[in-house]
Amino acid sequence: MNIDRLMADIKKLGNIGYEEGKGTSRMAYSEAFFKGRDFVKFLMEEAGLVTHIDAVGNLTGVLEGTDSKKIAIGSHIDTVPNGGMYDGALGVLAGIEAVRVLKEMNYQNKHTIEIIAFNEEEGNVVGGTFGSKAFAGAKLEESMIEKMAEYGMTVSDFNSSVRKGEDYLAYLEYHIEQGGILEKTNMEIGIVPGIFGIIRYRVVVSGVTNHAGSTPMYLRHDALEMACNIITDAYDMARRKNNTMVCTIGVLNLEPGAVNVIPGKAEFIIELRDKDMIDMHEVIEELQQKHAGENIEMTKIIEQENTICSPELTAVFKECAEKLGYKETTVYSGAGHDLINTSMIMPSALLFIPSVNGISHHKDEFSKEEHIEKGTMVLIEAIKTIDGGNLDENKNY
Ligand SMILES: [Zn+2]
Repeated sequence: MNIDRLMADIKKLGNIGYEEGKGTSRMAYSEAFFKGRDFVKFLMEEAGLVTHIDAVGNLTGVLEGTDSKKIAIGSHIDTVPNGGMYDGALGVLAGIEAVRVLKEMNYQNKHTIEIIAFNEEEGNVVGGTFGSKAFAGAKLEESMIEKMAEYGMTVSDFNSSVRKGEDYLAYLEYHIEQGGILEKTNMEIGIVPGIFGIIRYRVVVSGVTNHAGSTPMYLRHDALEMACNIITDAYDMARRKNNTMVCTIGVLNLEPGAVNVIPGKAEFIIELRDKDMIDMHEVIEELQQKHAGENIEMTKIIEQENTICSPELTAVFKECAEKLGYKETTVYSGAGHDLINTSMIMPSALLFIPSVNGISHHKDEFSKEEHIEKGTMVLIEAIKTIDGGNLDENKNY
């Protein structure tokens, strides 16, 4: 592969929507987004791909094979406001580089290869993973329909963008880790068995509002003090459950919210994320049992299932990384990706490379050139393996 060529593409795309000191802002349907997509379309066509843009703005480039069944390689080209230049863009541009390399080595692809640049993965405009939701025919949320109208799109535009899973042999997504595990463990490649599921509970704790000076400690029903116990327990239970679960309380509101008044009400949201749903449900149950009889109301507000990547395809990534002699390890994805949607209709697999300092969604997002090169090499090897039909269905990752 030609790492200089790929790095130049990453930098050129990263400069579209870039502002000094702030980072890259290429939100879906913005002027910068369309400019960036034009650039990626140009690269695809230059590499000999036949391009297409669907009604919600996903860009695809196809290299015909003798077998119409497709191997898709994709990610997204939109960014968060003031984001970096690797999140999403890497997977799309490395896919184009893979096609260029295969052509240069006169590789005759049996299966049709499709590079996908999904739109609006980040969700700051219409909703999270909107482009791949349309592509995979996932459920369209009410809030998305309203936002779509603002950009001149209708439900039929969404429906017209739906693809058939049976047309695809595989979907491969190559992405930066956006966390610090690979760097911390000195690994070059992350093999991803799945994406975390999410559970969020709103917790309302009721106490009694009273004077902060004249109410002795033994006569108080302080909602925050009770909330603190619940929060500490949530952290402890999540830590004890397994070594992957993460627990976050990022929102806490107190009423009435005055320095000299004992809080009568504390409201917060517990978010748990983990590789499967069972352990998270158990933590919530433990928490409810331990605090039963207290003035607490716990209401589930979100439950998003975890995603399991295709074991066969994941094993291909692992074998290719091993064959190339790269240091690889298993790492779950704590962040959502377009693969959540593609995996509902076709076998899908996710490949990570380290993020320096684990930083992402920020101007300082950075991945080393040597890792970008190695990840792309794994991707190219995987495409060849899958295209050659050397999939072992009995292989269980
Ligand atoms: Zn991303």
